[in-house]
Amino acid sequence: MTETSNATQLTRERPSFSNFDLRVSRVRQLSPHFTRVTFTGDDLVNFGTEGLDQRIKVVLPLPSTGFDTFPTGADWYGEWRELPEAKKNPFRTYTIRSIRVADRELDVDFVAHGDGGPASQWAMSAAVGERVIVVGPDSRSSSRGVGLTWKPGAARHLLIAGDETAVPAISAILESLPETAVGRVFLEVPSADDVLQLTAPAGVSITWVPRVSPHRDYGLGLVAAVRDWVRDHVRTVSSTPVTLDEVDIDSEILWDVPDPAVMPGPDDMYAWIAGEASAIKTIRRFLVSESGLDRKSVAFMGYWRLGKAEA
Ligand SMILES: Cc1cc2nc3c(=O)[nH]c(=O)nc-3n(C[C@H](O)[C@H](O)[C@H](O)COP(=O)(O)OP(=O)(O)OC[C@H]3O[C@@H](n4cnc5c(N)ncnc54)[C@H](O)[C@@H]3O)c2cc1C
Repeated sequence: MTETSNATQLTRERPSFSNFDLRVSRVRQLSPHFTRVTFTGDDLVNFGTEGLDQRIKVVLPLPSTGFDTFPTGADWYGEWRELPEAKKNPFRTYTIRSIRVADRELDVDFVAHGDGGPASQWAMSAAVGERVIVVGPDSRSSSRGVGLTWKPGAARHLLIAGDETAVPAISAILESLPETAVGRVFLEVPSADDVLQLTAPAGVSITWVPRVSPHRDYGLGLVAAVRDWVRDHVRTVSSTPVTLDEVDIDSEILWDVPDPAVMPGPDDMYAWIAGEASAIKTIRRFLVSESGLDRKSVAFMGYWRLGKAEA
């Protein structure tokens, strides 16, 4: 193939993610700290429909110029980085809670964490008619599956754990499981009033871990619950403990997920763990270094870092 024809083919290839120009159509307070915002827009006809833990970027308006300076091309991120600070729309990572392409509706569950972050603040006062841009999966792209981490393969036993920021992903994952699934789920939430009604197969048991104080001791309850459960079910844990690379969670993102080409087998336990980076780091060390859980079967994701804005 010549250089010219190769370049032509590449420019014709549609990127896996596109911009979706949306408006708020509904806002529902699910609990003291969870707000469900429903977005609508004709663009959603081309939204990839995987669901599960599909991550997206929610781009927020600038106070005076809205989205006038937000780049719309395939390299939107590269162009955005070159903009002066005042012209940079803030954006944050979220999960699709559910998508109804036929109705042109997309739900995102926002945690109100009260720390002044632009996304949390926006969600706390979101009103019908407000415009956002969502950068999400494009159903017309041939490179599908980008932004999905849930890859249990044939694993029959599941361990799923996360804090409130992972509750939307975990809720969608649980709804997708076959009736035969067997597993244990731990969910840390700010308060007992944030416990939500989830749908899961009978063999999957869910333990909610409300914090004593909503905005203190992040991760303590989650770490203890996962550790106790793993200790009591040590027979499900196999293989040789390994030494892990240290991740500096204040300067790097903790994102240690299995190679998607190496799928867990039916006798493996598959684990999916997401939340505040320090808690996830502790759980990772415990599960992999001390308990010897096979790294090819466990995804660790630091969704946010206490004291550090996402961007
Ligand atoms: C793949 C992925 C999927 C995610 N899905 C969701 C989702 O569906 N729903 C959701 O609510 N979040 C989700 N998150 C987490 C979300 O991106 C972060 O919480 C993000 O920091 C929120 O942006 P912000 O503008 O509110 O705060 P930022 O400006 O990023 O941070 C401002 C301050 O708030 C603190 N902070 C941020 N989040 C929290 C929190 N939850 N609790 C307490 N303090 C916090 C930061 O440490 C910082 O000090 C996801 C993250 C990832 C990586």
